[in-house]
Amino acid sequence: MRRISIFGATGSIGQNTLDLIARDPESYHVVALTGGKNVAQLAKDARKFGAELAVTADPALLPELRARLAGSSVEAAAGPEAIIEAASRQADWVMSAIVGAAGLAPGLRALEMGATLALANKESMVCAGPLVLHTAQTHGGRVLPVDSEHSAVFQALIGEEMSRVERVIITASGGAFRDWPIEKLAEATPEQAATHPNWDMGQRITIDSASMFNKALEVIETKEFFDLNPAKIEVVVHPESMIHALVGFCDGALMAHLGPPDMRHAIGFALNHPQRGALPVERLDLVKLSQLTFRPACETRWPALRLAREVMAAGGLSGAVFNAAKEQALDDFIGNRIGFQDMAGLVEQTLERLSAESAVTSAEITLDNVLAADHLARRTARELMLQYH
Ligand code: NAD
Ligand code: MG
Repeated sequence: MRRISIFGATGSIGQNTLDLIARDPESYHVVALTGGKNVAQLAKDARKFGAELAVTADPALLPELRARLAGSSVEAAAGPEAIIEAASRQADWVMSAIVGAAGLAPGLRALEMGATLALANKESMVCAGPLVLHTAQTHGGRVLPVDSEHSAVFQALIGEEMSRVERVIITASGGAFRDWPIEKLAEATPEQAATHPNWDMGQRITIDSASMFNKALEVIETKEFFDLNPAKIEVVVHPESMIHALVGFCDGALMAHLGPPDMRHAIGFALNHPQRGALPVERLDLVKLSQLTFRPACETRWPALRLAREVMAAGGLSGAVFNAAKEQALDDFIGNRIGFQDMAGLVEQTLERLSAESAVTSAEITLDNVLAADHLARRTARELMLQYH
């Protein structure tokens, strides 16, 4: 039986992971499940899967979690420290699916314990890619990508040499506003941005898809994960979301990964790795699909993509600043304090303001300085936001 833990179990990725586990319960022992405010779901799943431990991020919800787990053998705990503690419990396979920079510390702890970390939390790679990979290497852990594009690249690279890779193309659906005229974007509301044409995901990542901040994070994640020269990474808009990524080799061959937009593919690939296991995902009918289309990823429409290139060129803690400023800008957009188009401007200004503070080498990136940069960037973005009123 494999010992597994899921961080962010109540979210979209967490629930999809549990869906796969539920189909083969004899193969898994669930060690820890963690969640945020939805303690009803957390307690229900902890009971159903016989978890050793359930942790909510919010200490105020501990009494409720305890009450919901009464009479079961599941231990209850709460707070960010308790989440990191949960990662200290030995597990073979750990799903990192907390949203935001809060996912970094538990993921690092799981790697220190030598676990295989299935990484949905792209923010970990954006904020601290070199630290995550170094931690895995030092402690005999392993990181497997769960973001669909990165899982696709990983699969296209099996048996290949990185020195033969000419380019990596990741696709973007274009999000809710891909067909809107640019002039209309300033009026876009959070409700409109939170509807995704193809994928069913959490609210934040769905809005990040419309602004392309999600793709910007993924471009940085690609660089960090596969140690690629940024010049080799391309983004193309592919409205059907059937091809997730392509890898181009020195002989001109382009290997594409196709599949329906269902995160259980990438999650299941990481769960079954190094084997392939049967997965309950729809099989593509190419004739029915009939055509796949592509458009350029315009940096005027989506300035987040330009910012990603600047972040990769700057390196150091600029990824952490970028991510934190983006999270703050997203909060401000969701809270109707800034417009949809203001998010990129606010992030850019924050990056400029903190360029000196971000200048460290890759080897100098630590959990502490990432969290400090995250904190400073949120504060700076909040101050800069006032000018948008
Ligand atoms: P979600 O919002 O649906 O779920 C997030 C989970 O994290 C929930 O369990 C929530 O309770 C928990 N959480 C939120 N804030 C927390 C905090 N401060 N401390 C501890 N726990 C907290 O998000 P999601 O869509 O499942 O995405 C999770 C991660 O996976 C993100 O990093 C996202 O970018 C990435 N991802 C998601 C998808 C997708 O299809 N949903 C695809 C690729 C990558
Ligand atoms: Mg993705």
